[in-house]
Amino acid sequence: MKSLQVLIALGIMSADAGAGSWCNAPPAPGFEELEAVDVSDGWFKVYAVAPGVFAIHEPRQYETVTAFLVAGTERAVLFDSGLGIASIRRIVDRLSPLPVTVINSHTHFDHVGGNREFTDVRNLDLPFSRASARGEAGEELREYARDTLAEDRVCGPLPAGVTGRDYAMQTWTVAAHVRDGERLELGGRTLEVLATPGHTPDSLCLLDVENGLLLTGDTFYAGELYLWAPETDVKAYAASIDRLAALAPGLKRLLPAHGPPVADPGLLRELQAALESIEAGSTPFETTGQGQRRYEFRDFSILTAGPAGAKSN
Ligand SMILES: [Zn+2]
Repeated sequence: MKSLQVLIALGIMSADAGAGSWCNAPPAPGFEELEAVDVSDGWFKVYAVAPGVFAIHEPRQYETVTAFLVAGTERAVLFDSGLGIASIRRIVDRLSPLPVTVINSHTHFDHVGGNREFTDVRNLDLPFSRASARGEAGEELREYARDTLAEDRVCGPLPAGVTGRDYAMQTWTVAAHVRDGERLELGGRTLEVLATPGHTPDSLCLLDVENGLLLTGDTFYAGELYLWAPETDVKAYAASIDRLAALAPGLKRLLPAHGPPVADPGLLRELQAALESIEAGSTPFETTGQGQRRYEFRDFSILTAGPAGAKSN
């Protein structure tokens, strides 16, 4: 999940523009230099972001969410499956003939929408993931997801057969569980699962140490980072960022799930410092209409629950 403010900040959407004006805009900052791959069906936009790694981006819904297909020589991992508005399976099949394992960065609705199109779907084994797979999201999340296809959140026509009232959170069957430290051998490429709780309890990143890639899900993207939801644990998040920031010197690029699909690993150190300054109470913030606190930094902002919604842990 992320907010309209991100799109405004990224220059994808102007503050006073209605839907329809941002999808026709020139490439937003962070997209101009990416290599587009022509397999799109009009809903997804695909970019080659590293050898054997494709970003499958949904630029026309305001989450601007990205799933990543990471291919080895024997199998591929699809890291997240998008909003579920158009078939991500059709795009994946055009990109690779290999058997595909879906691993979700976490189980918010905008990362699991296409899970039902695959048989091999894996999550961490946690109460939050189990509830998500059964379609039992919390009320705040349901409310947030309900308007996914509202007029002001979609630009341009919806895929054939989809209407604005159709959006529903999906359920799926988990084929296997992954755990922290697990290594997935794809043939000539290894991905390591890093459990990074915080944004949600079941958040995880995938590390391709050989190629210097870190797929960060919603744990990091260069936009407005959501740390306000009831399922968020800010202390756990800070510990996860400490862990990731320690990896930064060995990384070439981050592959985040919202906004530009490529980011500089040095931003993890900036985020670590930002969280320390918030914890120390030394960063000014503005209070949103919903009582959340917004902290602005150079390359991202952080939205936390206000004092009323703050966790005691
Ligand atoms: Zn999320």
